[in-house]
Amino acid sequence: MLVSITGLADKLAERFRGRPPEDVLSWALSEYHPNVALASSFSREDIALIAMMTDIRPDARVFALDTGRLNEETYEASEAVRRKLGVRIEWHFPDREQVEQLERTKGLYSFRESLENRHECCRIRKVEPLARALSGLRAWVTGQRRDQSVTRAALPVFETDEAHGGILKINPLTEWTEEQVRSFILERNLPYNRLHDAGYPSIGCAPCTRAVLPGEDPRAGRWWWERPEHKECGLHRPSHGGESKNASGASPRRGKGNR
Ligand code: SF4
Repeated sequence: MLVSITGLADKLAERFRGRPPEDVLSWALSEYHPNVALASSFSREDIALIAMMTDIRPDARVFALDTGRLNEETYEASEAVRRKLGVRIEWHFPDREQVEQLERTKGLYSFRESLENRHECCRIRKVEPLARALSGLRAWVTGQRRDQSVTRAALPVFETDEAHGGILKINPLTEWTEEQVRSFILERNLPYNRLHDAGYPSIGCAPCTRAVLPGEDPRAGRWWWERPEHKECGLHRPSHGGESKNASGASPRRGKGNR
């Protein structure tokens, strides 16, 4: 199964080279619905994709992870999108017992004490719920773009997600620029997270995200106490070698987005 899907990702990359995201989504929905879903953190990218997907199929599936530490503004953006586009958001929560154990033994801010602790928190609040959300799916869609970070510089449109059983992972906005995403949101009069207007280019959990200064790298506001090549939460393990390839010294690229 893994071998055939790997071959499929390569074939699809060839077939959809230079095609717009709507074509990619249209194919994905006709091929896989209801076993394909968008993972949304309500970034501008995700909201643009929700609009594209619900244009094609009003019942297109969207899921989100409620880590328990999200900003109020993110919930507001989610509700605005739900109402405007009529989409049903499938929320997933972390395992209650694991969160209780973590907070009782290490307190509420253990993620600031070491990379290991930060990964532990992301694993409990994000990675494990993501695995549950993906179980049963044959493909998932993300709003990742290449120019968002050093860890995404080699991101392809189609990947084999080996970490989740070899299902297809689709990144339709890989080649879009931040300006294209902004224009799409503006032209469609879509809602977006108001923290973007307060200097937050990239938004994740509230205690791990801060505003950045003008000219500062957008991902500088995420886990700001860590090195750039560590700024992923485990949701997106690159099949394209992005993280390891660039960790040795390539300059972080500028861009914006969530997660
Ligand atoms: S981003 Fe921060 S609060 Fe959220 S899961 Fe990761 S470490 Fe925990």
